Amino acid sequence: MTCPHRTAFLSVAGSASPTIGVLALQGDFREHMAVVRSLGFDAIAVRRPEELARVAGLIIPGGESSVIDKLSRMFGLAGPLRAAVASGIPVYGTCAGLIMLADTLLDSIDGQQTLGGFDIVVRRNAFGSQLDSFETDITVPILGDPPVHAVFIRAPVVESVGERATVLATLHDGRVVAVEQGNLLGTSFHPEMTGDTRFHEYFLTKVSAA
Ligand code: GLN
Repeated sequence: MTCPHRTAFLSVAGSASPTIGVLALQGDFREHMAVVRSLGFDAIAVRRPEELARVAGLIIPGGESSVIDKLSRMFGLAGPLRAAVASGIPVYGTCAGLIMLADTLLDSIDGQQTLGGFDIVVRRNAFGSQLDSFETDITVPILGDPPVHAVFIRAPVVESVGERATVLATLHDGRVVAVEQGNLLGTSFHPEMTGDTRFHEYFLTKVSAA
């Protein structure tokens, strides 16, 4: 896919190379690490509090949020992850990662918890079994042209956005699929799968500025 504007943010990222952590308990963390490295930043897999303590920014990948929740509590990471979000370091959640960041979760499984921090209400598996996975182009004003080709896989939607959060993109029917709140960034879809690195670049500018 050609993406003429994909390097637009890199000049802002500059030559410094802070370490980006990718939560690696479950899901497609390897794809995120590859994108981060392709943009000139160090990426480490985060499975322990000591690893989390080393990073300047964190990505929570797609996967299955109930499993990521369970494993993060089992490995003693849930508390440190909450503290990291509260500390204001840049955190980007994609799909299950967005679910993990939501203050309020709808259609969770029994006992499922989120880390919270993002002033949004998210519904898991919002597209139902009729339409588990689909791809579509969406306009993302902060990223400019061309539109972002977005891959949705058993995706959540943001049902409502609180005062502290802002909408970055919607589907054609108005459903919210990309949001931002200070250093928090979230997408219902999977930019790590398409070769369009603009969301990661946008996230990395937050890390460089932090
Ligand atoms: N349906 C998954 C969940 O509830 C999210 C799917 C994804 O991350 N692609 O966590």
